[in-house]
Amino acid sequence: MHPKLQQLKSRLSEVDNLNEANAILSWDQMTFMPPGGADSRGRQTATLEKLAHEKFTDPEIGKLLEELQPVAKELPPDSADAALIRITTHDYEKALKIPSSFTAKFSEHNSKIYSVWAKARAERDFKLVAPLLEKTLDYSRELANFFPGYQHIADPLIDDLDEGMTVAIIQPLFQKLRAGLTPLVQQITSLPLTDDTCLHREFPEADQLSFGLKVAKKMGYDFNRGRQDKSPHPFTTSFSIGDVRITTRVKTNSLAESLFSTIHESGHALYEQGINPDFDGTSLATGASMSIHESQSRLWENLVGRSRNFWLYFYPQIQELFPNQLRNVSSEVFYRAINKVERSLIRTEADEVTYNLHVMIRFDLELEMLEGKLAVKDLPEAWNSRYFKDLGVIPTDDSVGVLQDMHWYSGTIGGYFQSYTLGNILSAQFLEAALKAVPSIPTEIAAGNLDPLHGWLREHIYQYGHQFTAQDIITRATGRPLDLEPYLKYIRNKFGEIYHLSLS
Ligand code: ZN
Repeated sequence: MHPKLQQLKSRLSEVDNLNEANAILSWDQMTFMPPGGADSRGRQTATLEKLAHEKFTDPEIGKLLEELQPVAKELPPDSADAALIRITTHDYEKALKIPSSFTAKFSEHNSKIYSVWAKARAERDFKLVAPLLEKTLDYSRELANFFPGYQHIADPLIDDLDEGMTVAIIQPLFQKLRAGLTPLVQQITSLPLTDDTCLHREFPEADQLSFGLKVAKKMGYDFNRGRQDKSPHPFTTSFSIGDVRITTRVKTNSLAESLFSTIHESGHALYEQGINPDFDGTSLATGASMSIHESQSRLWENLVGRSRNFWLYFYPQIQELFPNQLRNVSSEVFYRAINKVERSLIRTEADEVTYNLHVMIRFDLELEMLEGKLAVKDLPEAWNSRYFKDLGVIPTDDSVGVLQDMHWYSGTIGGYFQSYTLGNILSAQFLEAALKAVPSIPTEIAAGNLDPLHGWLREHIYQYGHQFTAQDIITRATGRPLDLEPYLKYIRNKFGEIYHLSLS
């Protein structure tokens, strides 16, 4: 290996060590830390963050990167070393464009607004947090403007998590998706509501957790390199390829909540655990983009976890675990219950057919705010009228309306929500490619063997980590760029069958 590249790697690994140590502190904060630790934890993470930023923006790294540009040109463009130089250069230039004074101000603002949001949500009153949200909007614009030359002001924010994606690409795609979903939602919601009472009996926590772990193990989640704990909001975190953890939350009166969050987070974790171990400690040891990451969690959660084949194998087992609750529930009733479609207020609880409508409302509203067409004070009204128009429901108060998601109250306005829907779209495109390559996947899943699917995903997506761009991963794995059709086809077929729809 080129000596300069070796030097770059050892410097990056120090930055990585600080970031991973910080991730452990955050994981602890969200799982086990007593409330009294909050203040000192805030100081500890801020110090580590500052050190990592200083180490990464050290001019020495800039010099190394400059010297490595001719080296990169000699390397095969799709090699891991070329990718490391390309990504580090991109991240370095980006880090330099954002003044550290801005980072400090914005991070302080975010910890403040987060706690005010929690209070506003508890008191169901948007007005409490509105002045701070106005500041967030200013900060979001300021951040975007460190990257002049954009077509839309949201583009630099989107690029941060979904490199290469822009409003100009996403908007027409979302329009087509909405046009495909709306008639389906109208047809299904004109039918009687599906009975899902079988999911809302009393299911003891310990049994729910043990069943979730059983499924995660079957998926191939390696517990020698991971673990599951409880937290108020489920998440996945990676400290290294050898230590990728997930969390879940359990409601004893809901069988679906913990189970599907465990499958979802295990999907994220399989991706992180499946990265080429040689990439450990570098910026290649992460997903290709937020959308690709979300495509993996949603693929396992919905396309596998809410499929008939999956429950052919697992239903007798869950029935055995909960004999009193499920004895008289047929697998068909259970299948329809976990796929119940309804007009609802809460994104995270939405079914597959309506979920993306929730996301698109947020995406449109954040663009309008960034463009200056929608004032923060008018947000609740705009939110409620869009919910009525798109989903036929009106929030009874702000806590189940504009205050429900933490995203705008803990980071920028803009840049995140699109990844959920892009991930859904991609999940179907990836599965379609996997089924074409390995036609036995469905029958294997029905027999409880999830390895053939896991193997295909590892080979075509996971192992590469961030070696390729999201666009390259999609093309390499599926033979073409992002395509909406497989997802629309999947939704139409699945829900057309469940609800006996005649779809043209
Ligand atoms: Zn996720």
